[in-house]
Amino acid sequence: MSIREMKRTRSIEHLLRPNIRELKPYRSARHEFDGEARILLDANENPFDSGFNRYPDPFQMRLKEPLAKYKGVSPENIFLANGSDEAIDLLIRMFCRPGTDHILQLPPTFGMYRVAASLSAVEVREIALDEHFQPRVDAVLAAVDPYSKILFLCSPNNPTGNSLDRDRMRALIEGFPGIVAVDEAYQDFARQESALAWLEEYSNLLVLQTFSKAWGMAAIRLGMAFASKEIVSWLNKVKMPYNVNELTQSAALDALSRPERMEEQVAILLHERQRLERELPTLSLFDELLPSDANFILAKTRHSIALYRFLTERGVVVRDRSGVFPDIGAMRISVGLPEENDELLAGLRAFQAKLNA
Ligand SMILES: *Cc1c(COP(=O)(O)O)cnc(C)c1O
Repeated sequence: MSIREMKRTRSIEHLLRPNIRELKPYRSARHEFDGEARILLDANENPFDSGFNRYPDPFQMRLKEPLAKYKGVSPENIFLANGSDEAIDLLIRMFCRPGTDHILQLPPTFGMYRVAASLSAVEVREIALDEHFQPRVDAVLAAVDPYSKILFLCSPNNPTGNSLDRDRMRALIEGFPGIVAVDEAYQDFARQESALAWLEEYSNLLVLQTFSKAWGMAAIRLGMAFASKEIVSWLNKVKMPYNVNELTQSAALDALSRPERMEEQVAILLHERQRLERELPTLSLFDELLPSDANFILAKTRHSIALYRFLTERGVVVRDRSGVFPDIGAMRISVGLPEENDELLAGLRAFQAKLNA
C-alpha cells in the first residue's frame, strides 16, 4: 500500500488500538451528574467543607474557557494532562499496539518520547535531523510503513533550541499517515508562529504545550494538548478520571487571569538570552552557539566536562549535552535571572582565565 493510500484510508478510529476503540470508559459520580445541586450524596466524599473535600471537575471546564480564549481555539479542542508527559504517554498507549506499532522521532530530541514508548513496549524509529537540525522530510516519509502511528516533532527542539522549518513541518503533517504530535513546550519563546494556527486544517495534528516553561509553573504539572474534537474525546476516554487536581486547576486559573505576568517574564528572558548570545562568543570556550528560539542555548564546546565541574563547584549547574556533538561536546544553558546570568558569565570568565594561566 502506498503512503498516499494509507493516508486516505486511515481515520483516527482506524489508527486507534482495537482495545481502546472498544473501551467503555469509567464513569464517576461527577460524570453522571455535573449540574448544580444543594446536597451531594453521590460520591462518598466527606461533606465537611475544607475547600478540597469534593472531587475536581474531570474535564476542567472552568479552566478550559479562559485558556481557549487565550489560545484562540475552542474548549473542545483542548485536552489537559498531568504535565505534557502524561499526554505523551496517553497518546502512545492509545494508538500503538505493544510489540507491533512504532513511533517516529527525529534525534537529537527530547528523551521522554522514547521513555514513554519503551514503557509501553513500543518501538522507536529514528530519523536524524539534518546538519541544521531540520527534518529530512523524504527520509522520514520513506521510513513509514503500516505500523507507523505517531510522529513526534519538537519545535523549538530540545536540546538544540531551534524551531523546525514550517514548510517541512507542513509537508510532514500532510504526508504522514498517522498522528503528528508537535511538542511546543518552548513555543512562547519562539519567533515562528505556533502550529496551533493549523489545527483546523489538519485532522491528524496534535499540538503539545505546557505550563512548565514560560508560565513558570513546572511544579503544578499541567500539560495541554490541542487537537480535533475527535482526538480530544478519545484522550478524555483513556485518561484517569481526575488526572488534573483542584490545586493545579485553581493555580492555572489564577495565572490565566493575568497572562501579562508571563509575557513580561518572557520578554525579560528573551532579552537575557540575547545578552548571553552576545557575551558567550566573546569567550574562547565555545566552538559554536546554536541559534535559539527557546529559553536555553546549546553551546558546542570541547571543555564541557571540565567546565561543568568548574561551574558546579561555584554553585552554578548547567546541563552536559555532549551526546549532540559526540566528537567535541556540548552544554545546554538555561537562561536565568539577570543576576544569575551575571554569575554564570563570571564563572565562565574565571574558567577561561584558569585555562590561559
Ligand atoms: C520541558 C519539556 C516538556 C514539559 O513537560 P511537562 O511534563 O509538561 O513538564 C515537554 N516537552 C519538552 C520538549 C520539554 O523540554
